[in-house]
Amino acid sequence: MSSNSNPYQNALTQLEIAAGVLKINKDILEILKVPKRILKVYIPVRMDDGSIKNFEGFRVQHNDARGPFKGGIRFSPEVSMDEVMALSMWMTWKTAVVGVPYGGAKGGVIVDTKKLSKGELERLSRGYARAVHKFIGPNIDVPAPDMYTTPEIMAWMANEYSRIVGENTPASFTGKPVEVGGSLGRANSTSVGGIYVLEEALKKIGKEKRHITVAIQGMGNVGANAAKILYNEDCNIVAVSDSRGGIILKDQRPKTKDQKLNMEGLNILKVLEYKEKNGSVAGFHGTKTITNEELLVLPVDVLIPAALENQITIKNAHDIKAKIILELANGPTTPEADKILDAKGILVVPDILANAGGVLVSYFEWAQNRMGYYWDEQEVNEKLKKQMIRSFNDVWAVKEKYKVDTRVAANILALERVVKAMKLRGV
Ligand code: GLU
Repeated sequence: MSSNSNPYQNALTQLEIAAGVLKINKDILEILKVPKRILKVYIPVRMDDGSIKNFEGFRVQHNDARGPFKGGIRFSPEVSMDEVMALSMWMTWKTAVVGVPYGGAKGGVIVDTKKLSKGELERLSRGYARAVHKFIGPNIDVPAPDMYTTPEIMAWMANEYSRIVGENTPASFTGKPVEVGGSLGRANSTSVGGIYVLEEALKKIGKEKRHITVAIQGMGNVGANAAKILYNEDCNIVAVSDSRGGIILKDQRPKTKDQKLNMEGLNILKVLEYKEKNGSVAGFHGTKTITNEELLVLPVDVLIPAALENQITIKNAHDIKAKIILELANGPTTPEADKILDAKGILVVPDILANAGGVLVSYFEWAQNRMGYYWDEQEVNEKLKKQMIRSFNDVWAVKEKYKVDTRVAANILALERVVKAMKLRGV
């Protein structure tokens, strides 16, 4: 077994573990190890100063046996082909675990959106849609938001795609604003779905949600919405962080490794207001700075990684003290760390289950676009809740059947479903 900081290697290791348990046919495994298609594009953008700048972008389509390729587009200076390849494979498993009729794909553009004007961002987004338009569409590949891509960006892309094909095609992208065919409930669906499965996980360890202590890494759309929901439900969010720093209430910073916290939570609504104004949670009054490393090993009930890949590794897994890890990020834990966490009895709710609420409501959006009939938010959330809980129970049943950890169980369930579809199609 190999594992390192290359997310694609980690995705392959996870696939091999699940395939080993299921004794998957070698030929099918060979097909699944690589994406079906990789697009690499250069997007020339007219900058505000009149110059032209070329941005490198990707779309990786891993598998479409269960339906059109599906997955977000990430705008980040750190995006790499290996990362997008890994994310595309994880999307294949994610859509299978929650039973939506899609395959898996992912996109990315190497760009720091904080350095672009709004006009430049719009031209880049439209340029991306033009560059990949031949390979996407409601029945081919349906992109959505991911890190640093927003509903507004989806509106631009769907509009650009619609212009090219000559008809209004809202189902070409999901995660759009409600005014242009987005679904109610999509904006915070990843977090809402994550909290539904967290409740199920808490039941398994005999704990109630009220008053649990939580640490959250990442205050983007997903981390911030999860924090808000938990705060409004009387949970104590002890520490949060974003790319510029982390915070914890002053008197709670553990001085020694094993010191327990006194379980007092941050006022998350105020923290988010502060972040809105200052660009970061760092410096919020009454708090002390905490590093990422320190946040991850706090003695909390629930740890929520909601940022990047490779955060929980062989280096810090031994020191993790949370009882549950709810992976709202994609790929935050390496396969080597998984082994350690399992041996320590920590319950990991794996990414492809924990954060699947996003793609689930993307599916509802796509279905509503195609029907031309829109649901109210309550209907969306009821369906989301039902499907998240059902998926959690499906994964749990596999975990008990094969006596494996929750990630391996989720991967087994997904792989079984994908392989079945491949065989039915005659692969
Ligand atoms: N980018 C999100 C994810 O990683 C959502 C994907 C989608 O809605 O297609 O699951």
